[in-house]
Amino acid sequence: METNMPDPKFSKPWHGVPREQIQWNPTVIEDVCIGCGTCVTGCNRLVYRFDYTRKKPVVADPLNCMVGCTTCANTCPTHAIHFPPLSTVFAMEARAEVRHVIEDDLIARREQLAWHDEIPHPDRLVELAVENIERPNPSTLLVRLAPKVKGECFCQFAPGQYVEVWVPDTPYLSRSYSIGNTPREDGSIDLQIRHVEGGRLSEWAFNRMKVGDHVHARGPLGTFTMRSPIDRPLLFIAGGTGFAPIEALIEQQLKLSPQRDMVLVWGVGDARDFYALDTLEDWSLADKNLRILLAAQRGLDTYTLPAGITTITNSVIDALHAPGLALAGRDAYVAGPPVMMPAVVAALAQEGIDHERIRVDSFGL
Ligand code: SF4
Ligand code: SF4
Repeated sequence: METNMPDPKFSKPWHGVPREQIQWNPTVIEDVCIGCGTCVTGCNRLVYRFDYTRKKPVVADPLNCMVGCTTCANTCPTHAIHFPPLSTVFAMEARAEVRHVIEDDLIARREQLAWHDEIPHPDRLVELAVENIERPNPSTLLVRLAPKVKGECFCQFAPGQYVEVWVPDTPYLSRSYSIGNTPREDGSIDLQIRHVEGGRLSEWAFNRMKVGDHVHARGPLGTFTMRSPIDRPLLFIAGGTGFAPIEALIEQQLKLSPQRDMVLVWGVGDARDFYALDTLEDWSLADKNLRILLAAQRGLDTYTLPAGITTITNSVIDALHAPGLALAGRDAYVAGPPVMMPAVVAALAQEGIDHERIRVDSFGL
């Protein structure tokens, strides 16, 4: 009798996580299956065997299934195959140790994986000096970087764009950070770095970075820039340090079009994470056409917030449904972690903002 064993070639750890600890394999709903065999012969990892008597597939070696693959479900003519939600995979990818294994693998196999053709791109690689560091709360760093050589900078970036930054003197890959300001004459840029448990750039920035250090950065990159006609009212939504590109876009509008009708909704977990209250206060004093709403899950009652700013103890989603915001007809610019995006887009649709009027800048890993 044949014994089914996971093939070590397929069931090896997934980015460092033992395969046995990962719940990822197909489940066949037999009542719906018509026994065509597409899944059995289509999977080249021998996950399935075929019961020739009953004409049904059998999931014989579930650990052979490639994490994240759903090919057999996609090609099943009767939709008889189910998988756990992809959020299972995304949750593992969000773990620092998993990201590090992926990064280390890319570094170790560079010879094999590198794409050698040159792809022309308009961005540039420059060296910047750390000019100023502020730590408004335990989980955020506000960092100003200035050109090491005068004129060698991202002097003409569009507000909302981002740069790639390398941890000095390491082989690690770059990390992306939005520029939190509009272009300045001296070419300096502001980054808002959130603390990421186990994050390599975050660990360097929070524990070792000091004024005068030099970093390599590449940019400007990204298309999260102002695309709306001048007469269109705007809605800005920021989650956590998603405030950085939003800050740049609002600063741009306050310079170019100060009478513009704008709403800002910024959401965080704890009210102490609102690290730019001075800026918000300046904005609210200077521009009566900018409405600011801050949403925090906790801490608003014990925290002093600038006058003239509305607060709500709840999530960004609840804030979007707050009475009197008049969101319909606005163009929306949303920046924050991927996990908040589906709910935000759904809430905006509920408030009458079409999908094509929503621009998204998502970060996370
Ligand atoms: S592809 Fe779908 S219908 Fe065909 S054998 Fe597999 S589960 Fe059954
Ligand atoms: S998801 Fe992919 S690897 Fe897993 S059983 Fe289906 S075809 Fe095979």
